[in-house]
Amino acid sequence: MSGSDVTIVGGGAAGLGAALGLAQAGLSVHLLGAPTAIRDDGRSAALFQTSLDFLAGLGVGPALQARAAIMRAIRIIDLTGGLVRAPTTTFRAIEIGQEAFGWNIANADILAVLMEAARQMPGLTLSDAQFRGFRNAPEGIVVEMADGARHESRLLVGADGQNSKTREAAGISFRTKDYPQTALTCRLRHPKDHEDISTEFHTREGPFTFVPSGEGISSLVWVMRPDRAENMLALPRERLAEIITRRASSFLGPVEIISAFGAVPMRKRVADRLVSGRVALIGEAAHAFPPIGAQGLNLGLKDVESLVRRLTAAHQAGADLASALPLYAQDRKLDMEMRASGVDLMNSALIADFLPLDITRALALTALKQIAPLRQLAMRIGSWTAPFGQGRNA
Ligand SMILES: Cc1cc2nc3c(=O)[nH]c(=O)nc-3n(C[C@H](O)[C@H](O)[C@H](O)COP(=O)(O)OP(=O)(O)OC[C@H]3O[C@@H](n4cnc5c(N)ncnc54)[C@H](O)[C@@H]3O)c2cc1C
Repeated sequence: MSGSDVTIVGGGAAGLGAALGLAQAGLSVHLLGAPTAIRDDGRSAALFQTSLDFLAGLGVGPALQARAAIMRAIRIIDLTGGLVRAPTTTFRAIEIGQEAFGWNIANADILAVLMEAARQMPGLTLSDAQFRGFRNAPEGIVVEMADGARHESRLLVGADGQNSKTREAAGISFRTKDYPQTALTCRLRHPKDHEDISTEFHTREGPFTFVPSGEGISSLVWVMRPDRAENMLALPRERLAEIITRRASSFLGPVEIISAFGAVPMRKRVADRLVSGRVALIGEAAHAFPPIGAQGLNLGLKDVESLVRRLTAAHQAGADLASALPLYAQDRKLDMEMRASGVDLMNSALIADFLPLDITRALALTALKQIAPLRQLAMRIGSWTAPFGQGRNA
């Protein structure tokens, strides 16, 4: 039977990032579910500077920067059609002394860059085998693959997304909530300049967002009722492009759809525990929620950073790697819970057709628009201008 220090399940950005970080620290890593082909479904991720700094430490900084579009400002426009309309509010990164809130990169590019680095990383074995389950062994665990193969490991890391089989096999319960929403994603070309501003229209069905994705190109995230999303996807592309143009009041001119579409049902899934015995969860296996405030992968990369830091310290001290897992859980639990609740609250307030909530939202945006220190505080909280790992016990 083959063996390694750590087995990671899942070749998404969280799994690949963890695999690179742990192998770089000198641990032997076996990654299951490495992608054999990367599909571009028009999805992208706006990554904060702290996330890019962490990824740069894995040696992929220049390759990612070459594919990244800068996001200097975020504009929120109320299209809920409620009785009380929130004012259009623009948050500019320069107000908090930053060049940008983040950089937007196509998911397919992030995966391609991480896979390229992973293929060349000594100590990291990539396999496309699917995880089926595991059993405890005296000094570790035995991982079982769908094809019947087995692999011995000291630790197991679940990075296998929101329907995580690792989470299930470890008996970790989770809280879940389905929203009446599907996110449609694609990339658009348009004649007018986006001026490096991410524009979020808040509609009663969810956000309708244009994120800069290159010169004259934006990534669209359009959250709507699932039945409407199905109808939209059945339309010819030109017709859909016209609808998008009209919905956005032509603020970027007539758009052209230049990628495939993605359609993602919106749900919250939060694991009750991040660690159980020799198993840890990271990324969407631990926390999934709607794409509001770019909290998804950025949060996943914070998990990766903490896990790599804690396991590296245990490895260097010659301690049992499993002894680092409770420290990882301690680092991440509160932040994860707070972000998940915050996103749930914002999303639920947006889709609830309820006057008191509309008034609260309008008042909050008015206050943020008019009171600079409050706006600056909100921007700092939203974009984590504090570096990764800051303020924690090493
Ligand atoms: C519309 C939309 C917009 C978003 N925008 C942003 C944004 O702007 N900024 C941001 O930070 N985040 C954003 N997110 C969130 C972000 O995309 C996710 O958080 C991130 O992609 C999750 O990465 P992951 O590696 O945790 O999981 P996944 O990408 O789901 O990867 C899981 C991997 O595990 C594999 N796997 C599953 N089961 C098994 C198994 N049994 N064995 C082996 N492998 C398995 C899968 O094949 C997959 O490769 C957005 C999400 C959506 C839906």
